[in-house]
Amino acid sequence: MLDKIITKQREWAVDEWVVRRDDDDVSDDVQTVFSQGNGFFGIRGIDEEQAPSSVAQSGAFVQGLYEIQQDHELLCMKGAPVLPDVFYRAAPSPHFLFLQVKIGDAVFSPDQCSLYSRRLDLRTGVLRRDAVWELPDGKKLQLCFKRLVSLKTRQLFASQLTLIPLNFSGQVELVFTLDAETHSVHFGNSLWANVCTAADEDRVHLSAETKHSKLSVNLICKHRADGGVFSPFSEQLRAGQICTMDLRENETAVLEKTVWLDTSTVNCSEIEPQLNRYYDEIETESVLAWAEFWADSDVRIDGNSGIQQGVRFSIAQLRQAYREGPAYGLGAKGLTSEGYGLAHFWDSEIYMLPFYLHTMPELAKQILMFRYNNIDKARDRARRLHQKGAMFAFMSVQGEDNPAAWACILGEQFINATLPYAIWNYVTTADDEAWLVSYGAEMVIECARFWAGRVSFNKQSGKYFINQITGPDEYAEWVNNDFFANVMAAWTLRYGAEVIRRLKASYTAEWQALAGRLDYGDGEESRWCEIAGSIHTIYNDELGINEQHNGFCGLDDIDLEALPASEFPLESHWPWPKVLQHKVLKQPDVLLAELLLSDEFSAEQKKADYEYYEPLTTHDSSLSPCIHSILAVELGVTDKAFQYLENSARLDLDYGDSAQGIHLANAAGAWMSIVYGLAGYRQTKVGVSFAPAISKDWKSYSFRLKIRGSLVGICVTPDAAQFELLSGGAVEIQVNDENVQLENSMTTAVRILQCG
Ligand code: BGC
Repeated sequence: MLDKIITKQREWAVDEWVVRRDDDDVSDDVQTVFSQGNGFFGIRGIDEEQAPSSVAQSGAFVQGLYEIQQDHELLCMKGAPVLPDVFYRAAPSPHFLFLQVKIGDAVFSPDQCSLYSRRLDLRTGVLRRDAVWELPDGKKLQLCFKRLVSLKTRQLFASQLTLIPLNFSGQVELVFTLDAETHSVHFGNSLWANVCTAADEDRVHLSAETKHSKLSVNLICKHRADGGVFSPFSEQLRAGQICTMDLRENETAVLEKTVWLDTSTVNCSEIEPQLNRYYDEIETESVLAWAEFWADSDVRIDGNSGIQQGVRFSIAQLRQAYREGPAYGLGAKGLTSEGYGLAHFWDSEIYMLPFYLHTMPELAKQILMFRYNNIDKARDRARRLHQKGAMFAFMSVQGEDNPAAWACILGEQFINATLPYAIWNYVTTADDEAWLVSYGAEMVIECARFWAGRVSFNKQSGKYFINQITGPDEYAEWVNNDFFANVMAAWTLRYGAEVIRRLKASYTAEWQALAGRLDYGDGEESRWCEIAGSIHTIYNDELGINEQHNGFCGLDDIDLEALPASEFPLESHWPWPKVLQHKVLKQPDVLLAELLLSDEFSAEQKKADYEYYEPLTTHDSSLSPCIHSILAVELGVTDKAFQYLENSARLDLDYGDSAQGIHLANAAGAWMSIVYGLAGYRQTKVGVSFAPAISKDWKSYSFRLKIRGSLVGICVTPDAAQFELLSGGAVEIQVNDENVQLENSMTTAVRILQCG
């Protein structure tokens, strides 16, 4: 069944640290997989010789660099306008990768090579291409291209081309450009205005500005080649150099390039020393930064190389997508594509944040600060919806919601519960109450106020309803009493009340200032608790399940197994009304609530709900398989657990449609499938807990987590799970239902899973 819904689309060779291809496939999927980035900017795996106008998405995706698309066909929505009437999109920077290799009239092309391979080393972030080019006249030239986006210096790109003529001596011509005719999916090749170009023998410079958002980008590039003669050229939209070099048979010639890319005005004295550095030096420094990252963030798996590679690929993607610095949003596609326009969704708080929280907690805080910095826009949006408090954007590049391609965006108000949940998660796991007091509390209170106004009291049942809302499962929109939305809203109201109590009790001055600013009405929180205690959820007695929303069980039955694989995803193949009329899920709703609020539901209830909803779920959202994997381990449905784990770990390699970029929430889900899935990690009201399990066929897996300022190492083998305090003070954890004060190390029993 799963094989039909989640079909393999291609297969990448398995190697635990390297992503490799020996063909010359330059499809969009492959370009996504070979993406590199450092959290400030990212580039796709475009080959150097590909002209920027010949690829669908050229240039780099840069944090904070967006354009306003005004000619977008807006959704026709009735009622007073709530969403802005323009679309915010990523503005891919001018292209700086182009490098053409010429010998006489012949131009290097991978399809003329007798040997050709590309390798992205996940350990170092270096993309390497090796080729032996066989020219029509019998000459053979060996080439090695290496490139990196520096993890150490956020504005720096460096590359190196090594050439060895195998059977001739002669001249080679190398042409490179900075090019403002970037090709963008949404803006064609007319994105950049006020382009200024300049080139001399030493440097190439290009600066440009977006037409509507008026954001600028500056690029400076330096090339170096021993014995190379450089002739500069500059045109209206591009500038570059032509380098000629004399090659001698079997002798190595090297060309190096450094590029500085920034969105602020460049400070020449800062960048001069950077541009003059040799490639090897920049590589060593960047590799060291990657090594530091992997030291605490790696997940090691001994027992399944395919899952190991996929999990490492996913972790590398998370590193490439975000970095410390200004509080930018974290795009659903990272910095790998224009897909979703670099927009920040709830994905960032519920899926990506846990990874950063346990490996680089500062970045988790930064994700939340992006929300805080946009709280006024959220207040405005609540006002436009005729609601109280704040209503945070569902899909946002810079705080405003995007008038998205799907109509339910206004309905997906559960974002106002997933954000407070993420705040709670950050504050408790990173032990950062000071941040809660200064920033988090305000967001939680405004979200709680929103829910208190959003619910309606139903006299007949004596319960509070939330009518006309969309839950995470987008195959059911504008429903009444969505389970996820209702229980998470109730949770938010309770948390809001708890935050106020905490501030009143321990931070009197800060509370008074905040209460004044928010025009707090005495006792607001008691009403929140009253509502939270009486929020309606639908329990279907006959089936013994929590029903997803009013009327869900009465929808048309569906047998997903009977559908051909070609009909998935349903949202692309079925008419929309047909999707809505069926009992079918795009992604989990009830099950996700039961995972997030794990200790509020019994094991029996979770199992009954899993057994009911899992066969109805298409996983048409990449946010789905990992949640099923985690719950399947908890509930002992082990064959499925490993199928879902494999799917999540290798989604962007083998399964998903990756042309529009990496599925970053899924990448984080792959990490969660090990940590929350196999190791049974949960954050609950009483603290953190583990219930380690391992496949009978695995030798071990291990990872590290930062919990309340301490670093804990976990290693699970079929014989025992070992927990070790690697740094920081003693940590209280619960393992297999037993409370433990972890001071040095301890071992505990492991559940052996029969599959995988
Ligand atoms: C999913 C949403 C998700 C969005 C961005 C949609 O397909 O249904 O839950 O937030 O993609 O990843």
